[in-house]
Amino acid sequence: MKNLIRKCVDCGKYTMEVTCRKCGGITHSTDPLKYSPSDKFQKFRLKEKEAENYGENRSK
Ligand SMILES: [Zn+2]
Repeated sequence: MKNLIRKCVDCGKYTMEVTCRKCGGITHSTDPLKYSPSDKFQKFRLKEKEAENYGENRSK
């Protein structure tokens, strides 16, 4: 399930509303996950590279 916590771009207040109740500013949904998609990609690429090296070694 997606996290509903949002953050006001104006005052930085965390809320679950689309608009900030404190200042009326627009809020953006925050990513609760510490790791970013790029990290996931990096891990995947690392694994891919690893497999590539492994394959090279085996072919010799
Ligand atoms: Zn605000």
